[in-house]
Parts: sequence; C-alpha cells; structure tokens
Amino acid sequence: MASVSWERIGAVGIACGGPLDPFEGVIQSPPNLPGWDDVPLVSIVQEALDRPTVVENDATAGALAEFWYGAGRSREIRDLVYFTISTGVGGGLVLDGRLHRGAAGNAGELGHLTVYYLGRQCGCGRRGCLEAYASGTSIAARAREALATGEPSSLAALESPTARDVAEAALAGDRLAMRIWDETTAILASAMANVLDIFNPELIVLGGGVTRAGDQLLRPVREAGLAQAMGPARRSADIVLSELGDQLGVVSAAAVAFERLGDRLAGPLAQAVPAGVSNARR
Ligand SMILES: [Zn+2]
Repeated sequence: MASVSWERIGAVGIACGGPLDPFEGVIQSPPNLPGWDDVPLVSIVQEALDRPTVVENDATAGALAEFWYGAGRSREIRDLVYFTISTGVGGGLVLDGRLHRGAAGNAGELGHLTVYYLGRQCGCGRRGCLEAYASGTSIAARAREALATGEPSSLAALESPTARDVAEAALAGDRLAMRIWDETTAILASAMANVLDIFNPELIVLGGGVTRAGDQLLRPVREAGLAQAMGPARRSADIVLSELGDQLGVVSAAAVAFERLGDRLAGPLAQAVPAGVSNARR
C-alpha cells in the first residue's frame, strides 16, 4: 500500500485484462473474469471513489509504462511493442510515441497472432495462436501431453508440472523439458519476427511471469527473432526484458491515468507525465 493521503489522489487508473472498451469504461466478458459481462467499471469506481477514473487493457497499459518508465525510459525511441507472457499472452503498442488503441480499443492482441494455422486450440476459438503454445498455461499443458505418452522425464515425478518446472528441468538437461522449452522459444521468436516486420519498432519488451526465466528465455527468443526479421527491421530493433518487473501492474495503471487525464487535472498530476523522459511527448 502506498503511503499517500487521499487528498493527494487526483485520479484512478485501472489496468485490467481485456476485452474491454477503454473509451466507454466497460469490461466485456474477459475469459479470466467470469461473470464480468458488460460491467461499467469506470462509472462504478468513479462514483464510489469520487475521482476521475479510466480503464485500459493491462497489456496496452504495460506498453505505455515500459515506454515512459521502464525499458524505453533511457532510450531515444518512438516505437515500442510490449508482450506479456503470463497465464495468457497479451500485447500493447506504442507507435510514433503514442499508445495505439485501434478502432474498438483492442489493438495489440498479440497473444492471438497465428503461429500455426492448423495448430493447437486457443481459448479465443481459433487454432494455432501464440498463446496456445507460449503462455505459462500452454507450456505446462504441452509438458503434460508429452508426459502422457510415457516419455521418461524428471517432470513425471511432479503431480502437476508448471511452466517454471519445465524451465528448471530444461536447464538441468531433461530431454523432454528441453524440447518443450526450445519449441516455446522458437515459436516466440517467430512471433517476434512477425511483429518486427509489421511495426518496425526500436524495441520489443517482454514481461510477465514466464519471463522470470530470464536469459533462458530472452537469449534464444532475441537471437532467432532478430535473425528471422527482414534486414531493416532487424538492424533497427532490440528485444529486451521488462525493466519494471513486478512493479509493472501498478505503474501501468498510473501511466494510463496520466496519459488520459493528465491534461484535465491541476497540480502535481498535470506534470506527472515523466519529466526528463527523453521519449515522452505531451
Ligand atoms: Zn487465440
């Protein structure tokens, strides 16, 4: 809990899993929030707390947070793509120095890039989405499926191996785990190459629980992702880990409040878009 007095709170920002309508402030049945069907969250919170309130897709907000306060902070950049690789896979886009929301406010659903059109069933209804392979849930599911064939592995001793268990077993040389991990990083790299070629960003930032594997994830994804992109996109880009880490969620919510409400508010909040951040444009 931040030790800030209530009088100093000028606005409320909410970073929430999508789909949602950031303009109307309505949550639209996110798969991980069962029962939240067309909930007018912004008006509810605004009324309860008596402060101007905004909501944004958490990965979209994450892109802005990394751009202003994280990996983008110390770099002269205008274009950043953020991936969150967690229970699911999400994405956010900062293009030409601004958040890109798209016509319905749902741009940047990078977890549903198709990496294999006849591939695994995804929760969204399509086949072969990135999320169906590279989310923590899918990494664990793929390991379980491999174990079910009877292939020997140290993971067989665990009741319900997680993505983290797979990463650790791969590091320890377990063949099954190494195969699952290598497949995961190869699929992620292919998605990176797609994104580099579509958006030609200076930076792709990777965050979320699965990226706690650190270099074990970043090194192969960065190397193969850059190698597969077209020359100009490759030469102008880098792929890095989130610099905000576990603080990303709260910083994301704040960043969105600053971005959407900063101009309307007096006092400290009006100047809150980071002073001294070289890439920021008001
Ligand atoms: Zn999907």
